[in-house]
Amino acid sequence: MSHKYSVIVVGGGIVGTTAACALAQAGIDVALLDARNPEREWPAEPVDIRVSALTRAAQNILQSVGAWESMVQRGVGAYDQMHVWDADSAGVLHFDAADTEFSELGHIVENRVTVAALWDKLETLPSATIICPSRVADLQNNQQSISVLLADGQKIEADVLIAADGRDSALRQMAGIQTTGWEYKQDGLVATISSEKSHQFTAWQRFLPEGPLAFLPLKNGQCSIVWTLSHQTAQDYVALSDEDFLQRLEQASEGVLGKMLTVGPRGAFALRFQYAKHYTAERFVLIGDAAHAMHPLAGQGANAGLLDAAAIAELIIKAEQAGRPVGSHKLLRQYERWRKGDNLAMMSSMDVINKLYTKQNEGFRQLRGTGMSWVNHSAWVKNYFNRYAMGLRDDLPALAQG
Ligand SMILES: Cc1cc2nc3c(=O)[nH]c(=O)nc-3n(C[C@H](O)[C@H](O)[C@H](O)COP(=O)(O)OP(=O)(O)OC[C@H]3O[C@@H](n4cnc5c(N)ncnc54)[C@H](O)[C@@H]3O)c2cc1C
Repeated sequence: MSHKYSVIVVGGGIVGTTAACALAQAGIDVALLDARNPEREWPAEPVDIRVSALTRAAQNILQSVGAWESMVQRGVGAYDQMHVWDADSAGVLHFDAADTEFSELGHIVENRVTVAALWDKLETLPSATIICPSRVADLQNNQQSISVLLADGQKIEADVLIAADGRDSALRQMAGIQTTGWEYKQDGLVATISSEKSHQFTAWQRFLPEGPLAFLPLKNGQCSIVWTLSHQTAQDYVALSDEDFLQRLEQASEGVLGKMLTVGPRGAFALRFQYAKHYTAERFVLIGDAAHAMHPLAGQGANAGLLDAAAIAELIIKAEQAGRPVGSHKLLRQYERWRKGDNLAMMSSMDVINKLYTKQNEGFRQLRGTGMSWVNHSAWVKNYFNRYAMGLRDDLPALAQG
């Protein structure tokens, strides 16, 4: 006999666990499955190389599902300014929280902090069940339910399945949903560094011909870097001695943070533009990187996924409260219409910016310089970009509105 839940969430990363918490908090019977248990404890140093810049909207969602306080206790770093400049033109953009109603523009948080806080919260919710470690071997959907056969032979059923199993989603394939996209032939090189000058709680980003270099300010005074490089250069830079790497980094940053002093372990992640052609199938829905993978230059992947999680949870909770079926085609299509356009607009703008800044022709150089100066001096346009980057747009799910 298989157990039947209202919802099964596959993938206990930032996005899937947020969806599970939101549903379980509303008393919905939800099972979360993941292939592995996340880390819950670690030494204070070194800072993990995987961090995310989380927007105000993301913070609101994490607060609403009861994870934010525990994230703050584990360590989050606020930043109140952002400085962007172009290596090849005079273009400069500066954003300041003082121009908004908030005291910060966002927070830099280690991914493991967010995941651990969400799992801690989920474990306290009576209507949540965690099945971990577990791997989905097969998926079957019919008009009454969707069932999942696990690799250990267990079978579980639900009214709807939410797949949040990341960019290479096995569940997406099992559901027969195709993707479109391309490899950027660029890697995001990530590491934690310390520098001579203070980061001043500012996120710094310099656009270089191979791709942007970002310094994300951490609470402990260090910075997490995300350096977009061609695949080969990234591999070469990962293999450099610390001394040689720091020298290249100092040059690439124009010495904005003074001398580069130390660097921790380095990792490089191949970057991809990828979107699922459909976000739904019968009793099945995609959220997070399983639905869309985007260039990290504006740090929006996890933020977009959190909006997906909040949107699908909101629709399911409303349906459940109104006594309507939670896995209906109508509900899932409503989710797809809500989130797909917003995600595609975000991904496409990241893509255009990446292309615009890696073009070396004189016309593009002038366009960038003039465009950035114009935005920087136009209060209204700047405010629009500021709010967009903070995730504060129209049509936000209720959980994101704070
Ligand atoms: C260099 C870099 C920098 C970035 N910076 C930012 C940033 O500043 N801000 C931001 O918002 N985003 C950023 N992103 C994007 C962000 O990291 C991702 O969008 C986000 O982590 C995706 O979360 P997710 O929960 O959808 O997927 P994942 O984090 O991939 O989680 C998937 C989960 O599913 C589980 N799983 C996988 N397969 C199975 C299976 N078959 N069965 C069971 N479980 C399974 C995995 O164990 C995992 O726990 C960055 C990305 C990169 C590469």
